Amino acid sequence: SLTNAEWQARKIAAIARGEGNLAPVYIERAENAEMWDVEGRRYIDFGTGIAVCNTGHSHSKVVAAVKDQVDRFSHTCVMVTPYDTAVRLAEELNRLAPGPSPKKSIFVTTGAEAVENAIKIARAHTRRRGVIAFNGGYHGRTNFTLGLTGKNAPYKTHFGPFPADIYRVPYPINYHGVSLDDTLHAIEMLFKCDIIPEDVAAIIVEPVQGEGGFYPASDAFLRAIRDLCDRHGIVMIADEIQSGFGRTGKFFCMEHSGIEPDLMTVAKGMAGGFPIAGVVGKAEIMDAPLPGGLGGTYAGSPVGCAAALAVIDVIEEEQLVDRANHISSIFDARLKALREQFPALIGEIRTDRGAMMAVELIQDGDPSKPNPELVKAVVGDAYQQGLVILSCGVRGNVFRFLPALTIPDALIHEGLDIFEKCLSRMID
Ligand code: PMP
Repeated sequence: SLTNAEWQARKIAAIARGEGNLAPVYIERAENAEMWDVEGRRYIDFGTGIAVCNTGHSHSKVVAAVKDQVDRFSHTCVMVTPYDTAVRLAEELNRLAPGPSPKKSIFVTTGAEAVENAIKIARAHTRRRGVIAFNGGYHGRTNFTLGLTGKNAPYKTHFGPFPADIYRVPYPINYHGVSLDDTLHAIEMLFKCDIIPEDVAAIIVEPVQGEGGFYPASDAFLRAIRDLCDRHGIVMIADEIQSGFGRTGKFFCMEHSGIEPDLMTVAKGMAGGFPIAGVVGKAEIMDAPLPGGLGGTYAGSPVGCAAALAVIDVIEEEQLVDRANHISSIFDARLKALREQFPALIGEIRTDRGAMMAVELIQDGDPSKPNPELVKAVVGDAYQQGLVILSCGVRGNVFRFLPALTIPDALIHEGLDIFEKCLSRMID
């Protein structure tokens, strides 16, 4: 069998550079919160394939559900001859989505597609054109979602033109001196200078800004957006693609604020690694598009539906929502202890949204001096020491921690030991 380096050489020759990879590590097998590469080296996984394997790698119940589905059939097309699992999954999502309004769902395959569809639904419902998104937001790599995404390199570089009628305003981050008033003022100016509110179909917001740096949206911010949407008949879309399915210590992150969005996009953690995504929202809005206006050949694949139903069972049976909070309390204590050691380098520690956790690296104790070089060096060193961690942030200076919600405590400590070792020796 080939080494990691040999596979990486073949990969570079065969796969275009646009699809880059974080680590030249080729996985042979994975189980719960651990992975093993083609050379037999073991990794603790603090990334879960970017917030996907919330129930761990290859959870036995998810695997069994998928195998059973594949034995029966793998595809009929939900738009031709549907199947019970799609209906059951929609019923589950409708039950779990926050807020009292009756809900309906649709299924697609990727997160970006879910966002595209949420916008289509909002436009069909309002018959309006404008969409408001936030600086630092991330909503996908398709043309419309790239237009929404508020981070240039590498996502948007050379890919324009982007669709019209997208407007972006600052996302409130106290740590970086952007207040809620700044955001609301920018929206007010937008309504005066660029688009009247009666032309705005939707405002899309991540309840924890993800790729942009793991910044939780405050309750006051989400309340203000809800009020604006109510006042002007705008559809409020919560993008829960990274924050959903137990990750933040609630089933959906919007529950922290008690605010019911009109539409919600879901993907990633939904099916433990099988490609399925969806939009769930208020029934009367969801029903706006004509029959046949939504869907796709692989929309709501039977395999994805079976996996998602099993994932929801596992989250509930194993009380993974509570586990997310337990995990975050361990990280919180250890990261705070680490900051005592390196107060000038470790800026804000964000652990109050369950197991969607982050640490910002700065210089001289100054939040306006990001330290992306150190983050990059530690992420690169960590995989060589057997730990997969991810970075994020508009400034590239944030470590994000997204372990499986099923990770044993001992593995959290072992992973954090590696992280501390990597950080300490880069600084010394
Ligand atoms: N929205 C959010 C909040 C995301 O985090 C992501 C993926 N990182 C997406 C949308 C896009 O999902 P996908 O990569 O499945 O298209």
